Amino acid sequence: MPGPVLGRYRLLLVDLDGVVWRGSRILVENVEWLRRARSLGAEVVFVTNNSTRSRRVYAERLTAVMGYPVEPRDVVTSGYAVARLVRERSGESRVIVLGEEGLVEELVLQGHLVLSIHDPIRCPVDYVVVGLDRGLSYQKLRAAHEAVKRCGARVAVSNEDNVIPLERGDAPGAGAVLAALLASTGARPELVAGKPEPYMYRLVLRERGVEPREALVIGDRCDTDIEAARRAGLDSVLVLTGVAGERGERCPATYTVASLPELDATRSPS
Ligand SMILES: [Mg+2]
Repeated sequence: MPGPVLGRYRLLLVDLDGVVWRGSRILVENVEWLRRARSLGAEVVFVTNNSTRSRRVYAERLTAVMGYPVEPRDVVTSGYAVARLVRERSGESRVIVLGEEGLVEELVLQGHLVLSIHDPIRCPVDYVVVGLDRGLSYQKLRAAHEAVKRCGARVAVSNEDNVIPLERGDAPGAGAVLAALLASTGARPELVAGKPEPYMYRLVLRERGVEPREALVIGDRCDTDIEAARRAGLDSVLVLTGVAGERGERCPATYTVASLPELDATRSPS
C-alpha cells in the first residue's frame, strides 16, 4: 500500500550542506521537517563528506541548529568513516595525515597513532590518510610521499570529491589533495570511505540494526548522496535546496522535492 513518506522510514540519513544549511544560512524549512520527523519517531543521523571537523564539533553545532541534543553518535563524517575503515581492514595503525584537525581527532579516537610530519619519517607507516586539507604544504606532501615510497604505506581517503561547492563558485576538495599525492607516488587509493561509496550508510545501518528498506537517504547531490544511496540499495530524496537544484541536475532518486515539507504531499512509489 502506498503511504506518506513520514512514518514509513525508521532511519533518516541526512546530508548537511545543501540540506540542513547552505554555507552559513540555515535551511529552516528542511530543519523544521526533520525535527517533526524525529518527534514522530524517526532516528536522524547526519552523514557528511566533510572531514575537516570532528563528529563532536558537528554535534555541538547541530544541537544549536536542530534545537534538540545531537550526540556525536548521530553524526558520521568521512573522517570518522575512514578512521573506522582503516581499523576494520588493518587494526590500529601508524598513519601520516594529509588533512585537518577533525580528521586527526577521529583517527586518534579509533586508536591510530598519528605520526608527526615535523620529525623524520620512521617506518613502518601503515597508511597515509587523506582528506580535505586547507593547510596543505609541500612539507606535508613530501612526508606523505616518503611514507608511501620508502615505507610502503597504503593510501586511504575520506572522499574523492575534486571540488567542494561554496556559496560562490567552488574550491579544491579532498580529491585534489589526493591527486597531488598520487601524481608523485604513482599509488592508488586502497580505501575510500565517503560518498558515493556506500560505506558510511552501511556503517550506520549496521551500528543501529536497521534494515535497508527502513532507511531513507536525504541529500542535495546526485553524484554523491543519491549515487551512494543507489549503491547501498536505499530509497532516497533529492532535495533541490543545494547543488543539484542550483545546477538544474536531476537523477533517479526515489523522491525529488523542492524542500522537505513537500514530502508530506508525496505518496510512496509502492
Ligand atoms: Mg550536500
